Amino acid sequence: MGDHFQTIVDLDATERDAERLGAGILDWLIADGIVAAERTDCVLDGDGHGNPPGPYYARAVHDPEPVDLWSNGLYITTGRTVFDSGQGEPQAATCPLCATGIRLVDDTWSPVDDAWEPFAGRFADWEKGGEGTVECPSCHRPSGIDRWSWEDDCFACGQLGLTFWNWAELTHDFEQEVRRRLGGHRTVTLRGKL
Ligand SMILES: [Zn+2]
Repeated sequence: MGDHFQTIVDLDATERDAERLGAGILDWLIADGIVAAERTDCVLDGDGHGNPPGPYYARAVHDPEPVDLWSNGLYITTGRTVFDSGQGEPQAATCPLCATGIRLVDDTWSPVDDAWEPFAGRFADWEKGGEGTVECPSCHRPSGIDRWSWEDDCFACGQLGLTFWNWAELTHDFEQEVRRRLGGHRTVTLRGKL
């Protein structure tokens, strides 16, 4: 089985506004009964405490079924984070400047060390507050690894993430509303499993 999660990552939130934006989203979700106000031991992030589903949780998802797994809450992450869907090696990364997809696996789906070379250590550098500069193998221009996109949304770098544990698939409308309340920020949704 394993535990599934969906994380909506805000790609535009800054270090300064991530906390405020996250608090605003939480207030709205509590007011609408999507999550309960009282934090309980219901997530697999951080200290394990999150907001469990509220009475109207079903409004946010397709095919709602009661979430009876132990980990069924919302966890909000703030601060520089490399979000990882836990789905293994990405097949390709796309340069934000020239839009070239850099293939990262060979025909047997094994990671290619040479292809990974420009990215080596960059996630860790960015997470520690650095630029995480990647020189694109195609256009040879530098850009921060937080601006690259990853096939199947394997990774996303951001200052704010909303992780829903074991919920049915979030609806498009719900994700739209989240984006609207984040001030129209770009988001990406990671779907993964532990
Ligand atoms: Zn490029």
